[in-house]
Amino acid sequence: MERKQFQLNDIVEMKKQHPCGTNRWKVIRLGADIRIKCEGCQHSVMIPRVEFEKKMKKVLVKAEAE
Ligand SMILES: [Zn+2]
Repeated sequence: MERKQFQLNDIVEMKKQHPCGTNRWKVIRLGADIRIKCEGCQHSVMIPRVEFEKKMKKVLVKAEAE
């Protein structure tokens, strides 16, 4: 199975949507823990990378390389 590729500022879709009804999350911090921010309500959560990779469904929008 291919390892999921993602980078800072990507917009990703998770397997479960946020209770606010939005399923668009922006990756705002990378590390051993990943911080993602809900694009709907701006709520942010920090989750371990391993868990993030399991729960992330796909990258919706790739961040522009700058
Ligand atoms: Zn939300």
